[in-house]
Amino acid sequence: EQLLEARDQAEKASKAKSEFLASMSHELRTPMNAVLGFAQMMQYDPRTNLSEIQNNHVSHIIEGGNHLLELINDVLDLSKIEADHLSLTLEQIDSAEIVADAVLMSASLGNARNITVVDKFSDAASVMLQTDSMRFKQCLLNLISNAVKYNKDGGVVTLNGQETEDGFLRISVTDTGLGIAKRDFAGMFQMFHRLNGDPTVAKEGTGIGLTVTKLLIERMAGRIGFDSEEGVGSTFWIELPLASNHN
Ligand code: ADP
Repeated sequence: EQLLEARDQAEKASKAKSEFLASMSHELRTPMNAVLGFAQMMQYDPRTNLSEIQNNHVSHIIEGGNHLLELINDVLDLSKIEADHLSLTLEQIDSAEIVADAVLMSASLGNARNITVVDKFSDAASVMLQTDSMRFKQCLLNLISNAVKYNKDGGVVTLNGQETEDGFLRISVTDTGLGIAKRDFAGMFQMFHRLNGDPTVAKEGTGIGLTVTKLLIERMAGRIGFDSEEGVGSTFWIELPLASNHN
């Protein structure tokens, strides 16, 4: 009885935390829009005539602001999922369309480092899925942006897809990056788990993306996993139910 009571209390506390986070993140986003919006205006308004140093300072505001906004958005998603406030729209969608869109949106991510994103999936015969198209795209964008971020200069990111025997479509995102050591495999989907730096100082990422992706995919009755070899690269894959899968 004591154990049951302790468990109920823990669940209540966890729910309260998620609800608090969901409302806090929402409130935090509004002022961030003002910070970023006005910083961008200062940078682009021809009448402001910023000196080089001032321009540099404004760039720091924008860079830091964008990072914070990304973090807030991730925490908002995460807490919404945990508090069961996330509504999904499950419908029949053409997987090729979503993959092509996600590839198009991420094509420029690798420009500066000469990394190309190759889509070997969406030209093939279309596969219909039963899923939430916006969340599906969000998950793909997360995996592609990681594959770019943790790639080496001049590297390649390749998307592939194939149907599984049990009624899912597996889409894989393969990179030619640093790879992940076997000893780090276990914690990959844990929140704030980052292999390359302290989450409070590293500006490139937040360490929440994979956690959110996993929770979203599982909410859509899907599965997620990866394999990786140090020095060679990683393949992250997601599997979502085919429209014909009535289980
Ligand atoms: P973020 O990228 O914001 O740090 P994620 O949750 O997306 O957060 O990823 C967590 C960590 O997993 C990253 O910091 C990185 O160390 C590692 N990681 C993710 N994707 C890859 C990849 N494709 N190759 C190598 N490491 C990766």
